[in-house]
Amino acid sequence: MQLEEKISFDFTGLLAESVKIHGHLCAGQVLGVRMSMLGLREIGITDPKGSDRKNVIIFVEMDRCATDAVQSVTGCSLGKRSMKFMDYGKMAATFLNLKTGKAMRIIAREDSRQKAKEHFPESDNKYAGQLEAYKIMTEEDLFEVMEVRVAIRPEDMPGRPLRRVRCEACGEHVQDMREVYRDGKPLCVSCAGGGYYVVESSEFKVQSSKIL
Ligand SMILES: [Zn+2]
Ligand SMILES: [Zn+2]
Repeated sequence: MQLEEKISFDFTGLLAESVKIHGHLCAGQVLGVRMSMLGLREIGITDPKGSDRKNVIIFVEMDRCATDAVQSVTGCSLGKRSMKFMDYGKMAATFLNLKTGKAMRIIAREDSRQKAKEHFPESDNKYAGQLEAYKIMTEEDLFEVMEVRVAIRPEDMPGRPLRRVRCEACGEHVQDMREVYRDGKPLCVSCAGGGYYVVESSEFKVQSSKIL
């Protein structure tokens, strides 16, 4: 394919690095590294951890092994706000070039599992065979590529928080415009009813809010 012509990534080196960060070698690492190489190339990014480090944002649709590989190869992370976790449960990620606006969504093909089996039919360890197959299969066999448009909100961009407000119910502070307004009053997501936790007890509580 034309990939090696313009932008060449060192697959073996990148895989070794991602295995080190992730903690083990698995099919997800191979898939994630290859997905990242393809995604970066599609948006014209050559040096994601160097000169291009401020030009890439990735939306990952899975929190699985491959996600760590994407982080390792691209240098994008939640903490840098250059990786956005979209909880879709899909083996897919969108690579966005902030400079050009070009965004490509890379989806792992479901039929690649079957194709992988055909590569190593005699392998008694199905999983090991799949892993090896993912290393040598063509990108066309592994992925689907989709050009998409992504509107990234100012409050989702890397950089200093645009706003910081205090929740009127719990008194905790909310940044990056994640507050919800009820009757004109700012509430955190949890107090607005969208929380993932229920408070059992609390210690070291900051000065309590006047409201509750
Ligand atoms: Zn893994
Ligand atoms: Zn609150």
